[in-house]
Amino acid sequence: MKMTIGRIAEMCGGQLSGAAEAVCHGVVIDSRQVYENCLFIPIIGERVDGHDFVADVLSKGAAAALWQRDRGDAPAGNIIIVDDTLVALQQLASAYLQQCHPQVVGITGSNGKTTTKDMVAALLGQAYRVHRTAGNYNSHIGLPLTILSMPADTEMLILEMGMRARGEIEFLSQLAEPDTVVITNIGESHLEQLGSREEIARAKLEIVTGLKRNGLFIYPGDEPLLKHILVEPEFLNLSDVRFCTFGLEQSNDLHPIGIMNQGQHMVFTTPRYPDIVWTLPLLGLHNVSNAMAAMLVAEHYNVTPAQIQNGFSTLRLTGMRIEMTTGRDGIMLLNDAYNASPSSMKAAIDVLHQLKGYSRKLAVLGDMLELGQDEDRYHQQIGEDVAGKVDWLFTYGQRSLAIARGARMNMPQEQIRSYQSKQELIHDLLELATSGDVILFKASRGMRLEEVLQALMPDS
Ligand code: ATP
Ligand code: MG
Repeated sequence: MKMTIGRIAEMCGGQLSGAAEAVCHGVVIDSRQVYENCLFIPIIGERVDGHDFVADVLSKGAAAALWQRDRGDAPAGNIIIVDDTLVALQQLASAYLQQCHPQVVGITGSNGKTTTKDMVAALLGQAYRVHRTAGNYNSHIGLPLTILSMPADTEMLILEMGMRARGEIEFLSQLAEPDTVVITNIGESHLEQLGSREEIARAKLEIVTGLKRNGLFIYPGDEPLLKHILVEPEFLNLSDVRFCTFGLEQSNDLHPIGIMNQGQHMVFTTPRYPDIVWTLPLLGLHNVSNAMAAMLVAEHYNVTPAQIQNGFSTLRLTGMRIEMTTGRDGIMLLNDAYNASPSSMKAAIDVLHQLKGYSRKLAVLGDMLELGQDEDRYHQQIGEDVAGKVDWLFTYGQRSLAIARGARMNMPQEQIRSYQSKQELIHDLLELATSGDVILFKASRGMRLEEVLQALMPDS
């Protein structure tokens, strides 16, 4: 974004004091990231109020800063006074988006948003100038910042939309007004806040509220909850929307056949192009599912099969999502420690289960957080699922004792161990694991399970 502060004041309905013709390059909300000629937007957080840094960032070269009226007198310099700085950030993003008017692809779902976003970017990037959410910047702050960091000549803007409660996806969708929306899957993340899987599905479906007329809605056709909700009048009346599904069932618009796991790749074909073998440089059936969603977006924008193939080959995912690395003594480490919910944990266990050529398979599974009152049952079910698919099970954390309990029904007791201390877990893993073994690491973000994995790296 490159704009005069006079124009910025207009876009967010602010009152300008200072030089209207001064030009801002980009927006920053973190005072530590301020650079020459940026626009600083102070956000009022729970612990920190960005307004405390306004004078400082202006002295460090920011071209201008926003200032919320109720914060008292603003410091001297180029200041735009607004009623609410967060709302102003969002208004500015919306106005900038309308000015650049790229095609917008909005992606939500319980799991696979970041992965699918990266895939869509890789595929569309073969034919268009693409800008996408950096990392996981998918919130009411991250999404407007993503929009404002877009180069003005962007043709395709790919936005991840995250949520913790009802209404949040609706807000993001109405801000971004996507031309194409994707729901990756419906899982159990945020069950604690939302109460039921049906509520989760309804929350994800809010993504259609901002969809432009004649837009495209891509969703997993195998998910019964979506089928069930989408026949309600509110959705049936979305007559100017094109619906398109992906999934394993043949009834879907796109479904894979002959899925195989080759080394660290997934390969599959699709009925529409029976002669093309799609190669995904990633593991897991869940990634085939994400890939199909991305392929539907690409096809919609006329990306050719050859470009799609090429796009997949260039794919690089944001870290700790099913990454295979070699640890000490040639032990293979399967790092999926980025986050976990029951659906993503099952997906990761299946990846481990399907790996071939290893002498033993070990799973290190930690607590899944924010699952609400049924958390014990969800952990136990993971235990029942993992038993029989691994040789050794290590659980970490209080809630994960239920994983061990679930596994005990179908797995020898001696091959299940539970820990509350990372040091003890690391000690025992180092003692037990040998060359030829593969170990999966998976837990909620808050458990920081990657610290255990780090200790098994060759240089630690
Ligand atoms: P967040 O809510 O943290 O932003 P996300 O939806 O962006 O998560 P990703 O970061 O793409 O999801 O993937 C996180 C993990 O979810 C992966 O490591 C993998 O274990 C799992 N996962 C990814 N895609 C799927 C899917 N389609 N179905 C089930 N699990 C999946
Ligand atoms: Mg994400």
